[in-house]
Amino acid sequence: MEEMNREPEKVEQGSESLDPLDWESMKSLLHIMVDDAIDYVANVRDRKIWQEMPDHVQAYFDTTLPERPSDITQVYRELKEKILPYPMGNIHPRFWAWYMGSGTITGAIGDFWASIMNPNLGGGNHAPHKVEEQIISWMIDMIQFPKSASGLLVSGGSMANFTGLLVARNAKAGYDVRTEGLKDNVANRMRVYSSTEVHSSNQKALEIMGLGAKSLCKIPVLDDYTIDVTRLQEQICKDKVAGLLPFCIIGTAGTINTGAIDDLNALADICEREDLWLHVDGAIGAVAVLSDRVKRPLRGMEKADSVALDLHKWMHMPFEAGCIIVKHQDAHKNTFSLIPEYLAKNTRGVASGENWFSEYGLQLSRRFRALKVWMSLKEHGTIRFGDMISKNIDQAQYLGRLIRANAKLELLAPIGLDIVCFRYNPGKLKDELLNDLNKEIKLQLEEEAIAVPGYTTLGDVYCIRIAIANHRTTLQDLNELIFHVVRLGDNLIRAQA
Ligand SMILES: *Cc1c(COP(=O)(O)O)cnc(C)c1O
Repeated sequence: MEEMNREPEKVEQGSESLDPLDWESMKSLLHIMVDDAIDYVANVRDRKIWQEMPDHVQAYFDTTLPERPSDITQVYRELKEKILPYPMGNIHPRFWAWYMGSGTITGAIGDFWASIMNPNLGGGNHAPHKVEEQIISWMIDMIQFPKSASGLLVSGGSMANFTGLLVARNAKAGYDVRTEGLKDNVANRMRVYSSTEVHSSNQKALEIMGLGAKSLCKIPVLDDYTIDVTRLQEQICKDKVAGLLPFCIIGTAGTINTGAIDDLNALADICEREDLWLHVDGAIGAVAVLSDRVKRPLRGMEKADSVALDLHKWMHMPFEAGCIIVKHQDAHKNTFSLIPEYLAKNTRGVASGENWFSEYGLQLSRRFRALKVWMSLKEHGTIRFGDMISKNIDQAQYLGRLIRANAKLELLAPIGLDIVCFRYNPGKLKDELLNDLNKEIKLQLEEEAIAVPGYTTLGDVYCIRIAIANHRTTLQDLNELIFHVVRLGDNLIRAQA
C-alpha cells in the first residue's frame, strides 16, 4: 500500500522510451561503428589472430548488474577496448580449428537489418516469412529434394540433427509417441546406426529424445573413415533377429575428424530394404554440392529422408545459421505442430498464411535468420560459394603435398574435403612423446599468434588438424604454417637434448 500511494517519480530525461534521446547523434555514432567494423574485417590480418586476455581485462568483466544508464559512446568505447582485441580468431585467414566459417560483411549487414526490423519468424503473413520460405525452397533445390519437402532454419547443425532425428523417431515408432510418450518396451529397443565417426550432436539428440545413448549403434569405419557398409548391414540383421527395432541410419557427409563422406547410395539402399529412415548429417559437406569436386561423392544424399545443413560453416554465414530439410512434410509437421487458441491462424491479416515455421520445430519465437542468407546468396550466387569450397579443397591438397614433401612431417589420415590431419615427426620418437610434442606445437602456434590450428586424436595418435573452411586463407598462409610447425618442433627437440 505504502508503495502505491507514493507520488510518481519524475521521469528522467531519456526514460520516455528506449529510443535514443538524440537520433542524429546516434546516427553519427553508427556511421563511426560501420567504418570501424569494415576496417576491423579488412585489416584482420594485421591483428593478432588470438591473444590471452590480460588480468585487468578479465577483471573488468567482474562487475555487478548495471542499474544506472551510461552514455552509448562510453559503452562503445568499452566494446572497442575490452572485447574487440580479444576475438576467438575465426574471421582471421589462419584460423583452421574445429569447423567454422569466416563470416561475411553482407551476412553481418543481414543480421543488422534482421534486428532492426525485428520480426518474429514463428509465423504470420509478412515479407520476412516469405524470405525464409524462399531460402528453404532454395536449399531444397540445392540438395535435389522434391519441391514438396519442408524445412526450417535453426541455430546450427546440432539443432538440425535433433529436429531430423525427432521426426524420424516419431515417423518410425509405429505408434503415436506425442500422445503416448515413450513406451518402455519400444523405446528400449529402438536403434539408430552411424559410423564411429558420427558427430556427438547426434548422440546428444538421442539422449534428449529419451532413447538413451545406448540407442546409437556405432559401426566401425574403413581406412578412409567412411562407415563399413557390410558390417552395418550385418549388425542391422543381427539386431532385428534379437528383437530390437532399428529405425534410422545416420550417414555423415563430411566427418568432423577427417571430412569423410559415407557411401550415401549404399546407405539409402539399406534403408529402403530394411524400411529405415535415412538422416544425413551434412553439417560440413551438404553445402559442398555447390562444388563440382564434391557432387560425385555426395551422390545419394537426395535419397535421404532428412538432411542437416550448416550455413555458418562452409557457407560462411555469421553464426547462427543451420538448416533442416525433411522430405516428408506431413511427418515433419506432425512432429511439431501444436496450435493453441492464442496462436490460431486467421484467414486474413498479419496472422494469416499457411506454413508457420513454429509448426516445424521447437522454437516459437524465431529471429530473422534468413535475411543474411538471402542477401549473401543474391550477392555472391551459388557459383561463387562453390568456388570458395573448391578453393579450400585445393588448398587442403596443397597442404598435403607440403606435408608429404617434408621428411619431418607425417600425414595421418586421407585428406577428406578440406581437412588435413598431420603431425611433426622427425623419426625415432615414441608415439607418447610425439603426442606431447605436437600438443605443445599447437599451443605455441596459438600463443605466438601464428595460427589457430585444430586438433584431434585418431586411434591414440594426437593430430594437428587443419580444417580450411576459410575464404580468406591463401597458399602463403599454409606455407607459413608448415614453416612454423617445423621450426617449433625443431626448437622443442633441441631444448630436450
Ligand atoms: C559442427 C558439426 C555439427 C554441429 O553443428 P553446430 O552448428 O556446431 O551445432 C554436427 N555435425 C557435424 C558433422 C559437424 O561438423
